[in-house]
Amino acid sequence: MISLTEKQTYQISILLIVALALGSLVIGTKAYDDFNRISRSWTTYADDTFHRANHLADLKSALGYGGVIHHFKNYVIRHDEKYYNAARKSAEKAKIAIAELEVHLKTQAEKDALQDIARVLRAYQNMTVMVKAAIAGGRAVTDIDRIVKVDDTPAFEAMEIISRGIEKGIEQGHSELTNAISGGKMVVIVGLVGVFILLFVAGFLLSNLRRLFGEIEKKALYLDSITSGLPCGLLVVNRDGMVEKYNEKTKEIFGAIQCQDKKFSLLDIFGSIGDMPAFLDVLSGNMGQFTIESQDESFSRKPVLVEVQPLNTQGRQKYILTITDMSELNQAKRKLEETNLQLEQTIEEVNGFKKLLDEHALVSMTDAAGRIAYANEKFCKTSGFSLEELLGNKHNLVKSNMHSSVFWKKMWQEISSGKIWHGEVTNRRKDGSLYWVYSTIMPFRNEKGAIHKYVSARTDITEIKNAERRIHQLAYVDTLTKLPNLMQFNELIKSMQAEIDQFDDFGKLVIIDLGVSGLVEINGAFGWEYGDRLICTIAERLKRELSEAELIAKIGGDRFGIVLFTEDHADDYVNQITAKIQKVFHHAFEVDENLLKVSASCGALVYPDDLQALSADKRTTDDINRYLELSRLESSKMSGSTLIRFESGILQNVSRRTMILHSVEQALENGEIYMVYQPQISLKSRDVVGVEALMRWRRPDGSFISPGEFIPVLEVSEFISQLSQWTNERCVQDLKTLQQTLPTVRMGINISANFLVSDYLLPSLEKLLKDHKIDPACLELEVTESSIMEDLDLALGQLNKLKSLGFRISVDDFGTGHSSLAYLAKFPLDQLKVDKSFIRFISENDQSRAIVKTVISLGKAMNLDVIAEGTEKKEQIDFLQAEGCDEVQGYYFAKPMELHELVKWCENPPLHDL
Ligand code: C2E
Ligand code: CA
Ligand code: CA
Repeated sequence: MISLTEKQTYQISILLIVALALGSLVIGTKAYDDFNRISRSWTTYADDTFHRANHLADLKSALGYGGVIHHFKNYVIRHDEKYYNAARKSAEKAKIAIAELEVHLKTQAEKDALQDIARVLRAYQNMTVMVKAAIAGGRAVTDIDRIVKVDDTPAFEAMEIISRGIEKGIEQGHSELTNAISGGKMVVIVGLVGVFILLFVAGFLLSNLRRLFGEIEKKALYLDSITSGLPCGLLVVNRDGMVEKYNEKTKEIFGAIQCQDKKFSLLDIFGSIGDMPAFLDVLSGNMGQFTIESQDESFSRKPVLVEVQPLNTQGRQKYILTITDMSELNQAKRKLEETNLQLEQTIEEVNGFKKLLDEHALVSMTDAAGRIAYANEKFCKTSGFSLEELLGNKHNLVKSNMHSSVFWKKMWQEISSGKIWHGEVTNRRKDGSLYWVYSTIMPFRNEKGAIHKYVSARTDITEIKNAERRIHQLAYVDTLTKLPNLMQFNELIKSMQAEIDQFDDFGKLVIIDLGVSGLVEINGAFGWEYGDRLICTIAERLKRELSEAELIAKIGGDRFGIVLFTEDHADDYVNQITAKIQKVFHHAFEVDENLLKVSASCGALVYPDDLQALSADKRTTDDINRYLELSRLESSKMSGSTLIRFESGILQNVSRRTMILHSVEQALENGEIYMVYQPQISLKSRDVVGVEALMRWRRPDGSFISPGEFIPVLEVSEFISQLSQWTNERCVQDLKTLQQTLPTVRMGINISANFLVSDYLLPSLEKLLKDHKIDPACLELEVTESSIMEDLDLALGQLNKLKSLGFRISVDDFGTGHSSLAYLAKFPLDQLKVDKSFIRFISENDQSRAIVKTVISLGKAMNLDVIAEGTEKKEQIDFLQAEGCDEVQGYYFAKPMELHELVKWCENPPLHDL
């Protein structure tokens, strides 16, 4: 494929356009001639025929019907003057038509025929005049008619001849036109098509040319923009020294005035400074470079370097001159030299600083991921690691595990956010010994702004730290276990609390207060020293098992404090820790070859989660200790090693419990505490056979505290005996009053679990019998199934003694305590009291029904009375009766009532529904 240069394309295009223009001209001219000829022949033919036909028609109408002859005849007949005038007018018209027609007639025959018509016309004209004279002479019409005789036949024949001539003319004109057209047609068509093609090709070539010009223009513009942006002057000069092109910088160097004229020569710009020899050199073709002095508009002189390059365009010799302002270059060079000097000084200073730093500090550099990329000699010497061992490793190599995860997390948070970090760090040497440094870590950013390295300088502060530690140990370490003490435990919590409060999503603290149960007894039995050794063994095992703990401290004689840190999933974490603690206490501890099994009670708290419901002033470290203790106390009520996690409900319980404990004495004195009695009805005899005594506490504000709440609180306090004594006293007195109405009625008295096993129970009941001389068979002592099950042997002993005193014994809440039936048979019982939870669902629940049935038949088999409590509905009673239950007690018949109400109720008990 032959590719053409722009110039060749341009030249060929121009040539083609000229050739096409000439071709179009030749073909066009020929076509035009043919057209002309056709059009001419058409015009002649049309013109002639039109005129002849037109004038003949005029003649016919002027002569024939409606013309001369017609009017003449009317005049002859009617003698009316108007016909005479009309005849004359038509004659005039006919004359004009004859004159016109004469011009266009071609043949002699036609011309002769026209003369005939003219003669006839004249005859009629003469005759008209004659008729006028005759009319004027008074001649009759018939007379006139006789003399009027014009022969008009020759005229009509003549018209026929002319008419035929016209027809012939038409035929001839038509054949002439047809010839002209058929002869010229092809040429015209070919010519037109040719011109059309030529115009099309020319148009295409022209558009190409336009594009070519556009591109050339674009190139010129592009070149202009390049040259105008050049930092040096650029000139195109022809061999006469005339400047053909120059750029902006040239103007700047030589001044706009010199370059102002459209045409100027090198002489104008060089001449002004008189550097003629150099200029002449250029012209004589001595290429290369030379220096001259330029003078700009402000007349300041500057050295400029002129470089000359030949340029051969279209055979014409031209030169490109590059002009560089040497003053700028010199200035830059000077600046560079100055900077170099400064740099050398700085490097010297930096080297000095580095030397100083290396002498004084442990310096290292890591990449963004924390891998060591450099460490100085002092670093290697202090840490005991060689440079090769350090490079590529993280600082974990010297990590001592002496700092909390919070500590490292905070450090990374600061440096990775671009801040400089300072802090004291405990590191570990290769040989395992510890050293302390005061560390400064500085992050460095790359040109994109991302941190790409950290440089750290550390001062060895081991000496200071050792001294400090000796002082610290005295204040912060437990002398027995060498574990941190309460003070340190509290300080750590306080500082970690501050971090957590400051940063969102920082993490959570799990804090545990662990108490070793039974230590007092062990101390008592084996001596203090033995107890101490046990504590040390427990401490060792805790440290081993909870290695992830931030701190394990000894915070009291038999208490350990544990602080752990977790980023999230605190609940799962607490569960894991609980399992680990249970593992620690699962096996016996060996002390002096003795195996000792102890358990732990743990209070735990997750900060800040578990304190969320509390205001900020209730979240201090002291508060946290208090909450932990409360939770630990809760846990100590349970058997085995358990962990109770703090929740605000514990606080409420505590405050309510405190209130109960503090106000019970006063309440007894004020009569806030009193007894109510609920009837028990025999399903056989339909009589009230007993009442159950139930305690009530009405507060001065009218609110009630249920016995279900206050009895368990008081039960674990010293008040329970006092309260029980008071109740029993009250009950016996009331029973006596009631027996005045119902002489055989029994009274059920609830005996709490603790009171059952207490030393007070028997003496107080014996005293009761003695003081009131009451039949013990009327007193039914209700003991719950679960209180019997707690310590079967103890309960059995107590119950046997009570039985021997003559009391009736009823097992309360029967069915809920998972009794060992075999054991139960050994108990001196009188009654089983089916728990109300089974009665409640008798109608709906098959299982409840089955249990009730079983209890009833069991009672029967053991020869015990069965009473159902919590009977509220008729269908429950019907079912119980059908199954053979002995007695019922419940709201269906009566709610618990005060004595005077009960007495009234018993006088006329509404038992008719039974
Ligand atoms: P408990 O010994 O099982 O007493 C029966 C409880 O059921 C009583 O609640 C009684 O009011 C309630 N009750 C009776 N009939 C119905 C009924 O048809 N439907 C329902 N839903 N409940 C019924 P109370 O009086 O609140 O006593 C609660 C618990 O407090 C007693 O359970 C008992 O364990 C203890 N308690 C009450 N008074 C004394 C007392 O003087 N000494 C001791 N040690 N404990 C007492
Ligand atoms: Ca009861
Ligand atoms: Ca009960």
